[in-house]
Amino acid sequence: IEQTALQNDKLAMLGRIAAAIAHEIRNPLTSIRGFIQLLRPYLMQLGKEEYARIILTEIDRANDIIFEFLNSSKPSAPMKKSVSINRLIQEVILLTESEALMRNCDIQLETYENDSDLMVSIDVKQIKQVILNIVKNSIDAIESLQEARRGRIDLVVRSEGHFAEITLKDNGKGMDKATLARLFDPFFTTKEAGTGLGLSVSYRIIRNHNGSIRVDSTEGSGTSFLIYLPLAE
Ligand code: ADP
Repeated sequence: IEQTALQNDKLAMLGRIAAAIAHEIRNPLTSIRGFIQLLRPYLMQLGKEEYARIILTEIDRANDIIFEFLNSSKPSAPMKKSVSINRLIQEVILLTESEALMRNCDIQLETYENDSDLMVSIDVKQIKQVILNIVKNSIDAIESLQEARRGRIDLVVRSEGHFAEITLKDNGKGMDKATLARLFDPFFTTKEAGTGLGLSVSYRIIRNHNGSIRVDSTEGSGTSFLIYLPLAE
């Protein structure tokens, strides 16, 4: 699936606007948050503590959106370093493991013997963000199955020509065609508290690395992402 130039422009422009006004929005949000906390005991007395919870959740969501925007509008040119992609993925797995286990889901990295330490030329922070976004989406897709079946997220790394090929495969709920066609669109989300920014930002990061990202999904049985990143010289 190709992201159009229009989508890219939209994202870049929104990113710039967000960076410019984020500060101005964050300050009032912080004070609203503080005052709601102060009102909490009163709302509790009225039996309306639920209202406080909703307001706080929504404020946090607004903050998340601003944060993700700031991230996406920051240096679009990657600051590249030669690092082992296997090691980077292991670090992301460590970050998500406890959340995954809580949701009855195993995460595993498989590497071919010859490719157990593939060096790629990447911006570590940006690529970590991409892998994290995708793994977290997989965990969400598995959790929403609400079945007794055990979730699996399999990551496979191998070299393919001048590229490292990273496969991220889950056995979650998968996507229908309409979702699949739009998942890289900025703001597209099917989640109640989603921002719809994770994959559009990931797409841009991978493109800025001269790599590529593809997705394949079957409704009801799972999704797999395929990422190519240039190997270090
Ligand atoms: P968000 O996670 O905030 O919704 P994303 O851009 O990360 O934003 O994802 C956009 C949408 O793509 C999700 O809302 C979901 O519908 C779909 N999606 C992404 N990854 C998966 C997956 N592994 N399995 C099923 N659906 C997915």
